[in-house]
Amino acid sequence: MKSLHIVVLWGLLAAWGLLAGANPLSSPLLAEQTGFVQSGPYAEVVRYCHGLQRSHPASVKCFNMGVTAQGRDIKAMVVSKSGVLSAKVAKQQKVPVVLVIGGTHSGEIDGKDAGLMLMRDLLADANPNNPLHQMVVLFVPVFNVDGHEKRSKYSRPNQNGPLETGQRTTALRINLNRDWMMAQADETKAMLSLVQQWDPLVTLDLHVTDGLRFRHDVSVSMSSHYATDPVIQREATRLLQGTLRQLRHMGHEPLGFYPQLKDVNDPSLGVIVEADAPRFSHVYASLRNRWGFLIENHAWSPYAERVVTNKNTLLAFFRLIAEMRSELVHSADQADAQNQLLAGREIPMMWVNAVDIDPSQSVPHVELKGFRYEVFQNAPVVGGRGIVYDTTQAEMWSVPFYNQLLPIPESTIKLPQGGYVVPTEWTGLVKPLLIHHGIRFARITKDQVNQNLEVMRVRPQDVVYDADSFQGKQRTSVSGSWRLEKLDVMKGSLFIPIKQPKALLAAHLFEPAAPDSLSSWGVFNTAYETSDYVADHRELELIRMMHAENPLIRQLYGDALAAQLPSIRQKYEDLLNTDESFRLDQQARIDFWMSFLPSQDPDLFKYPIARTSFLFGQRDMAWQK
Ligand SMILES: [Zn+2]
Repeated sequence: MKSLHIVVLWGLLAAWGLLAGANPLSSPLLAEQTGFVQSGPYAEVVRYCHGLQRSHPASVKCFNMGVTAQGRDIKAMVVSKSGVLSAKVAKQQKVPVVLVIGGTHSGEIDGKDAGLMLMRDLLADANPNNPLHQMVVLFVPVFNVDGHEKRSKYSRPNQNGPLETGQRTTALRINLNRDWMMAQADETKAMLSLVQQWDPLVTLDLHVTDGLRFRHDVSVSMSSHYATDPVIQREATRLLQGTLRQLRHMGHEPLGFYPQLKDVNDPSLGVIVEADAPRFSHVYASLRNRWGFLIENHAWSPYAERVVTNKNTLLAFFRLIAEMRSELVHSADQADAQNQLLAGREIPMMWVNAVDIDPSQSVPHVELKGFRYEVFQNAPVVGGRGIVYDTTQAEMWSVPFYNQLLPIPESTIKLPQGGYVVPTEWTGLVKPLLIHHGIRFARITKDQVNQNLEVMRVRPQDVVYDADSFQGKQRTSVSGSWRLEKLDVMKGSLFIPIKQPKALLAAHLFEPAAPDSLSSWGVFNTAYETSDYVADHRELELIRMMHAENPLIRQLYGDALAAQLPSIRQKYEDLLNTDESFRLDQQARIDFWMSFLPSQDPDLFKYPIARTSFLFGQRDMAWQK
């Protein structure tokens, strides 16, 4: 009997397994099987992805979009009931593509389970109002697959389930939602290829907040102020407000911004909205003249509720996008066309919260659904300030709302009339990024001597290095202004015209003032490193000789410098007499004399990228796209 039982049991299990493989609708996700106590391993995503394709071959395509640093396939699915499953046809037929990303931070895994469940349910839904009839959903259940498989019960100490989750960063410890501009991770490169291929109109990146306690279950935020065309900002606001409205109808308590306490230990001091940078997916979308939203579930809601919240948020967006599809497609085309006309236009590159510019300004208040809390001046055990929430006592908070973002005046730049020139020696670093971002460029095929280019020479004090490493890089702030100079452009250099739909993205890569430019990520730091120098004793010897008009100076540096020596000495004497700080600063006095010697490296402190006010001759260009 016992063995017969085992045989029957095995038979049932095998049948269930086969059935599960053939029809995922009959095999709930581990999250569903366990009442949302657990979330499944990545193998479940792989099985589900292929299973949905087998069940709905006309509406689903499951494919590998890339490979992680540890060699795992990254699965993506194209889901649509419009009859369109190819990027080319979607573009031709103007069917909107919506990119949904789960597991960017794979500890925040709600989007994976919610997305898989929603795809399964929408595919099974025969209702003609099903939004899948009007769009293509490009769903990446888990972006950070290696992080997802590094599972632990302790990865998310501020989060209420599931039992085991993955890690925030990739195996190479890169935070993918800070990597959209630099694309250091293989995972990001794969994602950018997907974006190039499919050109999603809307990107929805699914996350979970990091710990603030209140009763709002989801926040939806955007950064459309980066876009240069008001049409992008206008439609972004419509999408956001429409989604929030639908979520309220569904019984949710959404916020239209990512809430951060001004002081983490005292909510009464207010909530502040941060100006995010293009390294985030939702800002990156704005630089492409498209729409991006950061969706953050509330970490302390139970996992079962969070998955429902995520499903409903996606559904609200899908319905609205289906409704607005023609306007969105038209607006994106219009913004692409407008971006071709940015030459010479002044645009800000960086924003801050207005309170950082004027701390005394008056701010509105916002009503938040919070909890009773107590602020300690002398916290138990550790001392100092602290806060304890009483989550059994709901409380309304009416607190200052610092929600005004302003462009930083010094970050406003006038875009070039022609474009950017990447010298041959820097193309190895820059060209792969141009390709990842889909920026149009040409290779210059013949030396172009004595060209009038805009060059940025910076002063040593205008190069400021961050003390800490970030994403493995030493970030650097570089400021200066563009001035005309005669320069040779060597064969093999790259020219990036400003007249192209990706003009804004190109400017954000090449203008040092931009927060995620290559310069800000320290790519060009060698331009400011002194490697050879004149020894101190030799400097003093040369200065003494120049001061005394020693004939040796003529022998060493030629007639022109020798002829200038009397006027140089006069300038020096004037400075000593009129500028007390100069007189007291030995290094400044040395630098004064040494600055006249041609032994200084002319490229030291020259920002390597140049700009032009013209296009190069078309015959000497090989266009790459
Ligand atoms: Zn996150």
